[in-house]
Amino acid sequence: MSTQHGVKRVAVIGAGQMGGGIAQIAAVAGFDTVVFDANADAIGRCEKTHDKLLARGVEKGRMTEGDAAAAKGRLTYASGFDAVAGADIAIEAVVEDAGVKREIFAKLAGVLTGDQILATNTSSISITEIGAATDCPERVIGMHFFYPVPVMKLVEVINGLATDKGVTARVIALSEAMGKVAVPANDRAGFVSNRVLMPMINEAFYAWMEGVAEPEHLDEIMKLGMNHPMGPLRLADFIGLDTCAHIMNVLADGLHAERYRPCPLLEQLVVAGRLGNKSGRGVYDYSG
Ligand code: NAD
Repeated sequence: MSTQHGVKRVAVIGAGQMGGGIAQIAAVAGFDTVVFDANADAIGRCEKTHDKLLARGVEKGRMTEGDAAAAKGRLTYASGFDAVAGADIAIEAVVEDAGVKREIFAKLAGVLTGDQILATNTSSISITEIGAATDCPERVIGMHFFYPVPVMKLVEVINGLATDKGVTARVIALSEAMGKVAVPANDRAGFVSNRVLMPMINEAFYAWMEGVAEPEHLDEIMKLGMNHPMGPLRLADFIGLDTCAHIMNVLADGLHAERYRPCPLLEQLVVAGRLGNKSGRGVYDYSG
């Protein structure tokens, strides 16, 4: 397979929630895919998740047993960084830490020295900053997938200051080959998705704090009135209240505007350990 994107082999760096999903859709779409993670346990969990989700795809009639086996056959799992050599694109999905990402991109640029694409799935770190850690910022780009990756259609494609237009076109073609809809944006704090979504969520916390409505009522009004699949407070629980607060601070710092700071009630729930679904309680109680 080699089309406008020029990609046959994909390397995914980070075998967590996002990296695992990206590797899965790449393999299902026919790309030879290697998943690398520094943590051997994460790799083991990733492979088990792939087996489970591919089997479920067969059960639900979304793919044949042969397709699932072929996709699994295209996946390899590695705990050594040298496994990325030979890839036409590296898609990084490790922890959301600028220092860790800069280090990985400097290493990637040293191994993939041709016209390979160096993409990051970051949700909030500057693509330009990550690119500046390499000697090839024109090949560095944001490829922002959404959770759960096999289900969510969008890839927000983010151009850093130096990203080459040809690289953007290749990433859009590749995303489409992976069954996604790719939409371009530029590198400003929060890109488009979080720039627009997070202030809405933050405003919902202000409205709750000010007693405008109970959380259930606020969510119901937004869900039915705006035709959203869930209300903003329920969505905040799903994303993680700590992540929401962190991204608001990224917007405030990156856009030099205090109006983006997290709502005091959102910050208070975070310090209380009410982080949402993952901690059993956030806006709502999930202990039952
Ligand atoms: P995760 O914690 O599930 O997975 C991160 C993985 O990176 C772990 O398996 C960890 O072992 C590995 N890792 C850490 N440092 C490494 C290194 N130096 N080398 C190799 N592997 C390393 O995280 P996630 O939720 O999959 O998020 C990954 C990235 O995707 C982050 O940048 C995040 O902001 C972004 N993102 C997350 C979501 C989401 O909803 N979870 C959505 C869009 C984008």
